[in-house]
This record gives sequence, structure tokens and C-alpha cells, in this order.
Amino acid sequence: MTLEKTGAEKTGAKAGTLRKIGLAALAAAFFGGALADGIAHAAESTPAKQLFGKVRLPSNSAAAPIGFYAKGCMAGAVAIPTDGPTWQAMRLSRNRRWGNPAMISLLEKFSRDAVSLGWGSGILIGDISQPRGGPMLTGHASHQIGLDADIWFQAKPAQPLSAEAREDMPFVSMLDKSKFLTVNPKRWTKTHANLVMQAASYPQVERVFVNPAIKKKLCETWTGDRGLLGKVRPVYGHDEHFHIRMHCPSGAANCKAQAAVTPGDGCDKSLAWWFSKEPWAKPTVKPNAKPVKPRFTMLSDLPKACAAVLAAPAASETSATFGTAYAAQPASDADAAIQNVINTTAGDLPDSDIPIPEARPTLQ
Ligand SMILES: [Zn+2]
Repeated sequence: MTLEKTGAEKTGAKAGTLRKIGLAALAAAFFGGALADGIAHAAESTPAKQLFGKVRLPSNSAAAPIGFYAKGCMAGAVAIPTDGPTWQAMRLSRNRRWGNPAMISLLEKFSRDAVSLGWGSGILIGDISQPRGGPMLTGHASHQIGLDADIWFQAKPAQPLSAEAREDMPFVSMLDKSKFLTVNPKRWTKTHANLVMQAASYPQVERVFVNPAIKKKLCETWTGDRGLLGKVRPVYGHDEHFHIRMHCPSGAANCKAQAAVTPGDGCDKSLAWWFSKEPWAKPTVKPNAKPVKPRFTMLSDLPKACAAVLAAPAASETSATFGTAYAAQPASDADAAIQNVINTTAGDLPDSDIPIPEARPTLQ
């Protein structure tokens, strides 16, 4: 462990220096010398979540997921409009309604299909990604490349919610919190099941994450295609929303795919494990172990092209909101800069990363 860490730190420091030079040159091209130096310095010493967390608009470049769901960034994001005929985006102040265009179109289709299933007047959309993806200041480990989206387990009301209501409306859990990992039968309905399975039915959807109790309920009750049930994966949280993850879109050469789900319905040992004590136990600490200093993900830990994405000029919100002028958006100089970095740095991500998309909660 110690050796591994030392190795990673050494490599990180060397790559960081190289990236600092690259980023300074890139930033100089866009912003001029003094400001560029400042950006490069900040990138070297500031956690990546702070760099990506404060960018308000996407890069003005072709859409590209870069890296892995939990370790990457996104070029050329588009936003889902805050209001559509069959959806509303929630928690607008978080500014996380940005995604790959394939994700935004899927959500719009899903919202129409949801209405056909009897899911009120559409869906409430939670977090997708930040304008340039990347790590977030709060919340998720994944959602970094524009191919993850959270959908509330509450339907869109007929009347549009006010901006305040979108901030304050409480989440409603589908679990009976007085019991261990048990769905609340007063809240969970057949329509909830149909909605989750509709999401899983799209070929471009890779996984759908739900709470283990919800997966168990589906295992016990779902009479449709049991193969599709395999895409529905149990994970912590996800009891008041579920999470849709898409495959890397075709042609997205710098998007790192996740290992395929194993065939079958997943109603097996892998589900039973969540109902054992193991995943909920406090991590054991050896008595003489040195405390591990937390280490934030830095820009230099992400694919190299993410520095170019961060430094690229911004698109305007209007031009980058899906369904307005997005289709007419021209490629820009930023495309060439990002593509140039991509071409020289493909395939430098580890394989073993990040199966769990959300923070581990304390057991209630
Ligand atoms: Zn999520």
C-alpha cells in the first residue's frame, strides 16, 4: 500500500509538472500570459473538484465524454432545459443539468415514455453533470462525463414547480426506515417498477442503480424480461431517486467503458451480500495503523485532455441548451486544442476504478 502510494505520488508529480507546462501554454493561447500562469498554478495546487465546481458554462467544443464515469470530464456539454413538456429539472442552483447530448435526448424520450406509463405528467430530473463534468464539491463520485443522471422517485406535478420549490422540495424515500432495507409498500407501486424497468430497457442504458431493497422488490415481483433486471444494480442510497448510466456513445474514443454486467437477473449472491452485515459494518482500523491523510483528486489525476477542457472558451448558455441552437453550433478552436491533447494521451487510465457511485452512508 505504502509502496503503491509512493509510486503514484512520484508519477503524479512528474505528470503534474508536464501538465502544468501544457496547461500554461494552452491557457496562454486563450487568456494571455499572466492569467494563464495563474490558472496553471491554481490547477497544480487546487483539488479538481474546486476547479470543475466553479465553472459555470461548458466548453465551446464538440461533445466528448473523456475518461471514466468516476474519473473524467466532459467537453461540449449541453443542458436540458429547466422545463419541458414532460420534465422539470430540480435543484437548479446546483447547475448540474449538463450532459452529453445523447444523455439529454435519452432523458427527453424517457420523460415521454414515463407519462405513457402513468407516471404523472413526467419526470423530475436531479443531478446530471457540471458544465464541464469532473469531480464535484458535494455528492457523487460518478456523474463526471455527462453519461449519468438521477431521476426522482416522485412524478412531475401538473403545475410547474417554482424555483424555490425545486430547491426545497424534500426527497421521499421508497423505504420503510423503521426496518432494515425494506421497501415501503405504501409508497412503492407497480408504476415505480415499470419506470425503473423502462429505463433499463433502452439499449443505450448500461446500468440503472437502485437501493438494494428496491432491487430485491423487483426480483420478487418483476414478471417481464428478467434479463433486463440484470442491468438494475443494487447500491447504497438510491431510495429516493434512481440513477441511469449510459454506455459510452459510439465514436466516443476517449470514453472509458465500464465492465459489462454479468448475464442473468442479478437476483443472486451479489444481491444477498447487501443484506449481510458486511457492507454496513464500520471499516476496521488496525490498532497501530498510521492515519491515512485524505488525498483529493487533482487535475493531474484526470485524463490529460481535462486540463484543455477546463481552459477552453465557454459556450453561451443559450447556445448550449438542448433544443435551441445546439445543432447549429460550429466546431471551434477549442476542439482542435482538446483533440490535440486527446490524440497524444489516449489510454492512461487504470482499469480497477470505482464500482460505487455514491458516498457510503452511515447505517440508520
Ligand atoms: Zn446518481
